[in-house]
Amino acid sequence: MATTLLLLPGPVMVAPEVLQAAARPLVDHRGADFAESIARITSRLRPIFGTQGDVVLLGSSGTGAMEAALVNTFSPGDVVLSCPVGVFGRRFAAIARAHGCSVEVLDTPLGNAVDPQALARRLEADVHRRIAGVLLTHNETSTGVQNDLAALASAIRPHGAMTLVDSVSGFGAAPMQMDAWGFDVVVAASQKALAAPPGLAMVAVSERAKRRFDTARGARFSFDLARALKAAADGQTPWTPPISIVFALDAALNLYASAGVEAAFERHGRYAAALRAALEALNFELVSRPGAHSVTVVAARPPNAVSATALKQRLRDAYGISVGGGQEELAGAIVRVGTMGAISDADVGGAICAIEFALGDLGVPVESGRAIAAASSALRGAHAVAV
Ligand code: PLP
Repeated sequence: MATTLLLLPGPVMVAPEVLQAAARPLVDHRGADFAESIARITSRLRPIFGTQGDVVLLGSSGTGAMEAALVNTFSPGDVVLSCPVGVFGRRFAAIARAHGCSVEVLDTPLGNAVDPQALARRLEADVHRRIAGVLLTHNETSTGVQNDLAALASAIRPHGAMTLVDSVSGFGAAPMQMDAWGFDVVVAASQKALAAPPGLAMVAVSERAKRRFDTARGARFSFDLARALKAAADGQTPWTPPISIVFALDAALNLYASAGVEAAFERHGRYAAALRAALEALNFELVSRPGAHSVTVVAARPPNAVSATALKQRLRDAYGISVGGGQEELAGAIVRVGTMGAISDADVGGAICAIEFALGDLGVPVESGRAIAAASSALRGAHAVAV
């Protein structure tokens, strides 16, 4: 089977040693070896979350972890302020509504990040402290927009609302300082910047969030974080875990740790800058506005009324590259190119050339080499060698 280069906003390319780890024989998930894997994984995840607190693993995709965050900290009738900048922010709000919360929305125009001053004003106006919680998205995968979490944390601090953060597509690629920023629950998933297969979600919880576990009346069983924490204390999960994905995540974190977190931030930022430069040189229109660009996803409308769906198909069929399409109101209108996963500078450079070729194939007159020329200084970054 030919390998497709996945430049999706997740799942992503997974390194061979990570895939091999997933193929290991299974072990007793109540045994000492498995407990060691869990301990190693959580100790490696803590600094990426920027927390000294508890981190638990859930056999789930990211959406389950968002639901877990919500139902363990809020009760039906609680007022939460949702701050969506795209599909996944709206999903967080929908989960809150499904569990009976009263959801207020701070709207942000498409392509922008949440305005910290607008958030501060909204919370200042809440003099009676009706708002119990704030829902944030670290990186909005549907629009390629990244929020300035440090600034949003400062906007929330004077109010003191519990803050839940979906960091599914930001975690590991952009800074997260959960303790310093005062966040209560932060969720992540295995299939994004950590470059493991899908199947495991990670949830970091503050001391304040843990105290809420006793009083929150959100309906829960499988996603009961108090049970997950109790099991984690013995190096276990309450229910049967996806053992192979735990092995894979352990190996992926090995690779991640050996390069270091700063290298991961630098690489994602460099790839995203290179892709933005290339797409703009080809007259694509970026969805994200300046100052709001994501490091993990570049979302853009193709030029010359070229169908985003046709471009996506051409890239896959002729060049073996999978990129994402638009979701909901952006369906069929944009392509989304991911920077996460076990990919190299050459993969990104090759993809940039392939996008240029595919546009040409679809009838757009393109000056040959224009995209890679525009991207090269961003792509080479620190690798550029003076001669
Ligand atoms: N939140 C964000 C920002 C995401 O990008 C995604 C998935 O792409 C999710 C949540 C949902 O994660 P999952 O598809 O793993 O449930």
